[in-house]
Amino acid sequence: MPADKTAKPAKTKATKAAPKAPTPAEDTALRRSIIDHCLAMNATGFNQGTSGNLSVRQGEAMLITPSGIPYATMSPEMIARMPLSGGREDAEGPRAPSSEWRFHRDILRARPEFNAVVHAHAPYATALAMTRRGIPASHYMVALFGGDDVRCADYATFGTQALSDAALAALAGRNACLLANHGLLACGPTLEKAMAIAVELEALARQHHLALQIGGPALLTPRQMADTHEMIRALNYGNG
Ligand code: 13P
Ligand code: ZN
Repeated sequence: MPADKTAKPAKTKATKAAPKAPTPAEDTALRRSIIDHCLAMNATGFNQGTSGNLSVRQGEAMLITPSGIPYATMSPEMIARMPLSGGREDAEGPRAPSSEWRFHRDILRARPEFNAVVHAHAPYATALAMTRRGIPASHYMVALFGGDDVRCADYATFGTQALSDAALAALAGRNACLLANHGLLACGPTLEKAMAIAVELEALARQHHLALQIGGPALLTPRQMADTHEMIRALNYGNG
């Protein structure tokens, strides 16, 4: 039987190239950088004790701080590695991953533009979160977080899937949010940027808190915020 000239060669399924595995030196450097950021976070009074946690994307996994370990005693090998497709039982390392691994994993999964997540119980952001109020357009820098306000996620018990779901909803179109009766979350393309966003959010929370003491802020209008977003885009502000 003659060969069927119309038959197309069987297509080999295009496979996505797996991300290059980090070298041991790169892996250690990333782990050290996580610890350095944790120490810097506590040194500024931005966080206290074992509160807060950090994660960084590493290929199709994340590196995440261990649960309940004071940052001063944290060593690189204590940082847990968890595949983004997995859960607690898939974590590698001698210590349990942060109790908040769910929101770290879910944010890194759902938001490819972010490679790092910072969670802290920074005093002013937390004080506002304790009132279950977000930050409205009381200062133009609100725009830095992606919209015209910073939302406060609904309350849910720490470490739960419900908290992760609430956090993801509050982060829609934003790079930061408050967590009711808990603290703050900040995300960025790098750990440095995520930390800088967290620091900006705590500064804004402090200013907003102060304004609330003296009669309450006058809020910017949607037009004024649109102009701010336009200026941020034009200057590529915050990305220098
Ligand atoms: P972990 O020590 O488990 O990371 O918990 C700290 C925290 O802030 C929980 O929300
Ligand atoms: Zn917390």
